[in-house]
Amino acid sequence: MTGTITRSWRRYRSVPLVYRIGIAFVLGSALGLVVGGRATALEPIGELFVRLLEMIVVPIVVFTLLLGARRLTPSKLGRIGGQVVGLYLLTTAVAIVIGLGVANLVQPGVGLELAGSAGETEQAPSMVDVLLGVVPDNPLGAMAEGNVLPTIFFTVVFGIALAMLSEEFEPGSAVHDGVEAIFDVAEAGSEAMFKIVWGVMEFGVLGVFALMATTFGEAGVDAIVPYAKLALALTLAVSIHIGLVYLVVIQRGLMGESPLSFLSGAKDAMVTALSISSSSGTLPVSMSDADENFGVAEEVYSFSLPLGATINMDGTAMYLGIVAVFAANVVGQSLTIAEQFAVLATALLASVGTAGVPSAGLIMMTIVLTQVGLPLEIVGMIAGIDPLLDRMRTMNNVTGDLAVTTLVAKWNGAIDYAGTVWSDAPTGSVVDGAVDD
Ligand code: ASP
Repeated sequence: MTGTITRSWRRYRSVPLVYRIGIAFVLGSALGLVVGGRATALEPIGELFVRLLEMIVVPIVVFTLLLGARRLTPSKLGRIGGQVVGLYLLTTAVAIVIGLGVANLVQPGVGLELAGSAGETEQAPSMVDVLLGVVPDNPLGAMAEGNVLPTIFFTVVFGIALAMLSEEFEPGSAVHDGVEAIFDVAEAGSEAMFKIVWGVMEFGVLGVFALMATTFGEAGVDAIVPYAKLALALTLAVSIHIGLVYLVVIQRGLMGESPLSFLSGAKDAMVTALSISSSSGTLPVSMSDADENFGVAEEVYSFSLPLGATINMDGTAMYLGIVAVFAANVVGQSLTIAEQFAVLATALLASVGTAGVPSAGLIMMTIVLTQVGLPLEIVGMIAGIDPLLDRMRTMNNVTGDLAVTTLVAKWNGAIDYAGTVWSDAPTGSVVDGAVDD
C-alpha cells in the first residue's frame, strides 16, 4: 500500500510542475463552471497559495538586491537602470498602441448600454503621490506593508552604501568584515527564498485549482457572453504584443535567440501570473526563472524584476486603452485621434502607478476615463468580468518584465549560459556571468 502511494507520488512528481499547474488550471475552471457558486468553498485554499507567495516577496527583493549591490558600482547601476526603465516605457507605449489598434478594429462595447453604476469608484492615487511614495518615510514600515517600490529604493541605497564602505575600509577591519557578513547573509537568504518558492509552487497545483474553480464559480459563463468582444480584444492585443514585441523583436531580432527558448524559460512565471493575477505575487517565481532558466546575473534581475512588477505593466496599459474605446462605444461616441493620444499618455502614466496586485488596473481606469471625459460607471460595469481579464493582462505584464530583463542582461554580458534554456547555451562551459565595465 505504502509502496503504491510512494510510486504514484513519484510518478506525479515526474510530470514537470508547470504542466501539473496547467492541468489544475483547466480542471479548476471546469469545476467552477459545473458547480457554480458552491466552488467558493475552495476559496481558502487559493488564498493560502497567494499568501504563501506574497510571504516571500519582500525578503526575496531585499536579499537579491543586496547581492546585486555587492557586484554593482553606481555607474553600472545607472547604465542598467537607464536601459531597463527606457525599455519598460517603450514597450508599454507600444502595448497601448496595439491595444488601441485592436480595439478600433474589434469595437468592443457596441450594443451595450450603460447599466446603473455598481458604485465601484475608488479613488486612484495622484501621480505626485505615486512619485513621492517611492521614497519611504520609514523603510521597515514599507517592508512591513509589502510596498515594493519604497523597499527597492531603500535597499538599493543601503546596498550602495555597504558596497562603498567595503571599498573604503581595509579587509580585516570590523566595518569591512561586517559588510561582507551582511552580503553573505543576503546570499544565503536569497538561496533559501528560491528553495521556498519551489515548495510553494508544489502547493500551487492545489492553489491554482481552487483559484480557478472560485473565479469561474462566481463569474459563470453568463458574465462573459455580453463582454466577449472586450475579452476578445484583450486576448488579441496580448497575443500580438507578446508575439511581436517580446518574441519577434526582442528575442529573435535583438537577442538572436529562439522565441521558444524564451517561452520555455518564462512559463512558470506566466502560468503563475495567470493563476494569481498579481505581478508582485509572481515576483518570486519570475526571479527564480531569471536566475535558473535564463542564467541572468542577479545584479540585473534583482533590480529589473521588482521594478518591473511595480512599474512595467504592458498588459494593464493596453487594457486601459481598450476599455477607453469600449467606454466610448457604450455611450455611443467615438474617440478622436487627439483623444486617443491623451489615452496613450494617461494610460502609460497610470500603468506605471498601478500596483502589481489583483484588479489594481480597474481602479486606475478612473484616471483614463476622467481624462477623456467618459463616465466612471464603466468601471462598475466591467468589474464582474475583470477577474478573468486581469489574469491575462497580468500574464502579459510579467512576461514583459522577463523579456526586457533578458535583453538588458544580454546587452551587459550578464548571462551565464551554462545549463539554461537558451538555444545557443554551450554545454558545460560557463560564460562570463558578471557585468562588463
Ligand atoms: N493585476 C495586475 C498585476 O498585478 C494589475 C492590474 O490590475 O492590471 O500586474
